[in-house]
Amino acid sequence: MKISMVVFIISCLVVVISCATLLIYNKNKVLAMSGRDSFVDEDAFTRQRKRMVEEQIAYRDIKDKRVLEAMESVPRHLFIPEEVRFSSYYDQPVPIGFGQTISQPYIVAFMTELLKPESDDVVLEVGTGSGYQAAILARLVKQVYTIELVEDLGKEARNRLKTLGYGNVEVMIGDGYKGWPEHAPFNAVIVTAAAEHIPQPLIDQLKPGGRMVIPVGGVYAVQELMLITKDVSSKVVKESIIPVRFVPLLRK
Ligand code: SAH
Repeated sequence: MKISMVVFIISCLVVVISCATLLIYNKNKVLAMSGRDSFVDEDAFTRQRKRMVEEQIAYRDIKDKRVLEAMESVPRHLFIPEEVRFSSYYDQPVPIGFGQTISQPYIVAFMTELLKPESDDVVLEVGTGSGYQAAILARLVKQVYTIELVEDLGKEARNRLKTLGYGNVEVMIGDGYKGWPEHAPFNAVIVTAAAEHIPQPLIDQLKPGGRMVIPVGGVYAVQELMLITKDVSSKVVKESIIPVRFVPLLRK
């Protein structure tokens, strides 16, 4: 009887000490902006992000220092649903709901580097999704306009970007195929969903000297990442860069 009492008391002490240790350890953890109560270990995510840049991006020859810096500073995990947040810095795309995905980090960096973003640029993105690509661009250019077809995704991304302080991003809910004529012409256009063909309105809304990056191809076909450049005399040149796989550009 006595021994079992001692064992019971020791067990209680172990539980209390473990809880106290956990609480002390968690002092560096902050509440995530997920809308639900959950703890996010910011220090661990910062380390994972640094590793992501070194091992997945710089290692694969992305050289633009500003792009590398942006990839290291934007908190990708805050753009990813809580249920799959653990995979935020994996070398893969991640589902963001509504059958959509946030691209693999390397592809985001690759497309951003191809755009050759300059600090005075005004950029159009088609396919806001989580808002992550827009946030990366927001750190590199003057103004980002981004269009999302799925209303709930667009509204969520708009709130998220505002909460995180990306004041130079404007989100519109609508069909990005038509571009955003009110803010055209753009120095650069990036499309983050695969189009069957290159939308003419997007070519029209590109500034002379501008660049567009867009995946082209059907859903089940091999898609190509295309770089479209418009020279100063408005001559358009189309170049296939690498094979890719994107969700389809939908029409409304
Ligand atoms: N750039 C996003 C990921 C894009 S996934 C990010 O960083 O998270 C592709 C997105 O394109 C999806 O959110 C999808 O809803 C959107 N989309 C598909 N067709 C569209 C269209 N015609 N106009 C605007 N957005 C579209």
